[in-house]
Amino acid sequence: MNIIDKTLPSAPASGCNDRPVLHQRGQHEVFCGLTGIMWLHRKIQDAFFLIVGSRTCAHLMQSAAGVMIFAEPRFGTAIMDERDLAGIADMHDELDSVVEKLLARRPEIKLLFLVGSCPSEVIKLDLGRAAERLSVTHSPSVRILNYSGSGIETTFTQGEDACLASLVPSLPAEPENAPDELMVVGALSDVVEDQFDRLFKEMGIDTVRFLPARLADDMPAVGNNTKFILAQPFLTDTARALKDRGAELIQAPFPLGAEGTTAWLKACADQFGISDEIFHAVTEKPKQRAERAVAMHFENLQGKTVFFFPDSQLEIPLARFLHQELGMKPSEVGTPYLNKTLLSADIEMLPEETLLSEGQDVDLQLERCREEKPDIVVCGLGLANPLEVEGITTKWSIELVFTPIQGYEQAGDLAELFARPLNRRTRLEV
Ligand code: SF4
Repeated sequence: MNIIDKTLPSAPASGCNDRPVLHQRGQHEVFCGLTGIMWLHRKIQDAFFLIVGSRTCAHLMQSAAGVMIFAEPRFGTAIMDERDLAGIADMHDELDSVVEKLLARRPEIKLLFLVGSCPSEVIKLDLGRAAERLSVTHSPSVRILNYSGSGIETTFTQGEDACLASLVPSLPAEPENAPDELMVVGALSDVVEDQFDRLFKEMGIDTVRFLPARLADDMPAVGNNTKFILAQPFLTDTARALKDRGAELIQAPFPLGAEGTTAWLKACADQFGISDEIFHAVTEKPKQRAERAVAMHFENLQGKTVFFFPDSQLEIPLARFLHQELGMKPSEVGTPYLNKTLLSADIEMLPEETLLSEGQDVDLQLERCREEKPDIVVCGLGLANPLEVEGITTKWSIELVFTPIQGYEQAGDLAELFARPLNRRTRLEV
């Protein structure tokens, strides 16, 4: 975990939503972008993530993904020691030899990401050049890419954005006269991906591809006929890279809950000319199932206030779901970075009185939180324990990234993730 003080870039000025946003530029507490490896290494089954970092980075990954000790992990850390940092050793030679040994021992690896960290950023180790050089040696059997997961540059889920953005230039080009293809962008659990794939096919959208794919050689092609929709809200750089390759963004609310999922699917259906009748016939039953599952938690959650500290960048779509589908009142919705364009549909459905904040000044935000006395706070691990000690119910935002929450079949589970801690506190208070 990094606790750092840095100047955040100003909010993108784009977007139709002119709602005021509180910009904060003080100390903030978030995980670094290395965290994304925890779900990405499970998603891309023949990829390996080689962190070029320190013992701190290795410890973060080891403790956070400790279950992997029972299997051959698909991530590791090339640890830079004092000799490397002092410039005594040639870092590029050392890296070449680590990669050589790794690929000789693990011939199943088809895609290798060199992942930058704080130490490699500080000594300005050029991982882009290293990836190019190593690609020449190891292609075509292994593709080697690089991105930064450093806490100096990224927060938590931005690691996935940086990883997918690094993949985009290497995606194959779609043939000029290819039919329109739908690309769903953002790592989803396999079960959620399969559900979406089935719904799209039932509607008649046969050409659906997912980025990232489960295998390195199965990554989708991209070109002027690609229409892409984001499944995760934190993919600003990936969206930009796809647009640069000619793909067109389909804008929609994010697929959380019954309403969010319906709006997300409908945006795709409209883009592909699917009639309202067919859309309704395909989505009616799963939508009703989702509504029933969410309704089971309505009574417990309706009217409860929720306060989001900035962490996962899922905060705005989650607040939309809790407000629109469960009648909760988001008092403040903080997000590390705010892309008003990608999130405009969700922002428009938040109540007027909800304060939107971008970045963090943790002490000031804690004061606002204590003043609000919300029923539940969504925050990172570092803030959860101290707030619980003060009697405030919390939900770890990282849990919402690791748990499958998108789509109709997960809508009830998502509502339960918020109902459970509130029920637990009620029981403790009885
Ligand atoms: S990348 Fe930076 S913040 Fe992340 S674990 Fe390594 S040293 Fe810590």
